[in-house]
Amino acid sequence: MERFEDEALVLSTVDYGEADRLVTLLTRDHGKLTAFAAGARKSKRRFAGALEPYMRLRVQLVETRVSTVRLDSADIVGGYYAAREDLPLIARALYAVELCRELTREHEPQPELFALLEAYLHKLDAKEAGPTSLLAFELDALAQAGLMPRFDSCALCGGPPGERPRFDQAHGGTVCESCSGRARDAVNVPAELLSGLRAIQEGARTPLSADLRARARAVLNVFISHHLGRRLKSVDFMAQVGLD
Ligand SMILES: [Zn+2]
Repeated sequence: MERFEDEALVLSTVDYGEADRLVTLLTRDHGKLTAFAAGARKSKRRFAGALEPYMRLRVQLVETRVSTVRLDSADIVGGYYAAREDLPLIARALYAVELCRELTREHEPQPELFALLEAYLHKLDAKEAGPTSLLAFELDALAQAGLMPRFDSCALCGGPPGERPRFDQAHGGTVCESCSGRARDAVNVPAELLSGLRAIQEGARTPLSADLRARARAVLNVFISHHLGRRLKSVDFMAQVGLD
């Protein structure tokens, strides 16, 4: 069985049996992996607090006969501890890692997504990531996954979105008024929302107003759950604590 080293971000963990833990990692070179950490909850010394969501680790892994890998050791490179103390930052970090977990398939290298998530967790830890930053992160992550929603032109005819644009998750984004008959599930969206999201896609760092952020969240929740086939759990957490 081959042994290898990699850089990893912990996406999620689940306790297994009496003493073990299954850890979902986004590694830099090997993509998403489910790693079995034997005795992780018994031996405090061996993994010493490393196997927690959004830890940044240097890991030693061993291939097995099944798709799960074995985690031999994990050294903490970064803990993003500041981002663990503040509820809005926790909510954004949980959302970011859950989105990455759901957008990826195991054993498919995604070095750009790894770099994107690492940079975002860094930003959260430095307390430089406000609510608009989460929208920017998710639009980048969706683009990496080949699911970039279209805000600049009609997804059906390619024409301008017009004065009364609609958004249709199944067709991948904006639909103009004359095409809206072909997009049954499309909902009305303000033109201002589309231009705001388009600017974020292009790298603008201008914060959106709370009202536009709430509308953006609603549109992206529908888009993401349509493409993933389920709603992200951390969305409910954000809604419960009243954060974005
Ligand atoms: Zn159209």
